[in-house]
Amino acid sequence: MKVEFFRHSIAGDDKRELRKVLDSLFLTSGEWTKQFEERLAAYLGARAAVGLTSCTHALELALRYFHIGLGDEVITTPLSFIATANVIEYTGARPVFVDVEKESGNIDAQLVERSVTARTKAILPVHLYGQMCDMQALRAIARRHRLKIIEDAAHCLEGARDGVRVGEFADAACFSFYATKSITSGEGGAISTNDRRAAAWFAKARLHGMSTGASERYAVRYQHYDMEFLGFKCNMSNILAALLIHQLARIAGSLKRRNVIAKTYSKGFQSNPAIRLLNVLPRSKHARHLFTILVDPSRRDAYLHQLQDAGVGVAVNFRAIHLMKYYREKYGYRRGDFPISERIGDSTISLPLYPRLRDKEVAYVIAAVNRIIRR
Ligand SMILES: *Cc1c(COP(=O)(O)O)cnc(C)c1O
Repeated sequence: MKVEFFRHSIAGDDKRELRKVLDSLFLTSGEWTKQFEERLAAYLGARAAVGLTSCTHALELALRYFHIGLGDEVITTPLSFIATANVIEYTGARPVFVDVEKESGNIDAQLVERSVTARTKAILPVHLYGQMCDMQALRAIARRHRLKIIEDAAHCLEGARDGVRVGEFADAACFSFYATKSITSGEGGAISTNDRRAAAWFAKARLHGMSTGASERYAVRYQHYDMEFLGFKCNMSNILAALLIHQLARIAGSLKRRNVIAKTYSKGFQSNPAIRLLNVLPRSKHARHLFTILVDPSRRDAYLHQLQDAGVGVAVNFRAIHLMKYYREKYGYRRGDFPISERIGDSTISLPLYPRLRDKEVAYVIAAVNRIIRR
């Protein structure tokens, strides 16, 4: 058997919607983009959402809107995809890493406050694997020190914790629709906010700071555009939006299935002493983006290959960012600087988790993992 690490869930509805775009006039940002943005904002309970081409761009736009740049510091986690730290680098600011909690892999709110300096401008938490960070604690720190909060919610469209929805306590929250994310258009992203002025800026910043987009310029009679500020080029097209509209509508069913699979995995591994699982906190709605197991770090890479040889698709999310060559060389980071992130980064293996995964595939993965990963 071959169990793919990920298979998307593009269905008939999505293909029909895409066909409508292809048969229409505007392939670039237009009616479908707008419709997706409205539905995403409604789903999140946010005032506004703006469609982009990636979460990376969403994070960068948020930092730029808050004038974060040279001489500033942004506190974030080393246990994430590199994009999280890279966007801080783009602006000229310095990423200040804070280690994570052993039980959840999320940024340790207790350690965040100790890393605040006069230069700190923002906190950039990541809701790792789909479980939210302690936003109550992070918001209290942000208020005490007048910091912005920009959530990297690439894993966490569906998440909530302690009654707080993803993005609710943030100045902006950033989402990804990259190829392996829970809803996907191959590439894609969005930013949500409750600040209407920020939303209006994001909508222009995604298109060079232009006053009108193509579908507005040509809607009635030609209108000249002005360029109000130096923007970027990362607007979500109708093509991407069409693929996402119905996936968003199906998201509860998708999460339900991912929850069933995650529970089956947890049960399947619970009596294996060579496997540790991260905790699911009480009062937390886990978005179940990734299912990871933690194994002996000295054997992790061998296990990866053995699992692949057994036909099980695997991934590593993530090796700690501060140990990447660029960050080691630029900032002099060394092994031992953030021991918990390093430990999780060296021990983690991600297993297949998506709605199309069949029960017999789940059983196959459990059997293969328990056969290969032993004391
Ligand atoms: C996927 C991912 C990103 C980047 O998303 P893109 O849409 O590919 O730019 C950022 N942060 C995390 C935690 C991710 O997993």
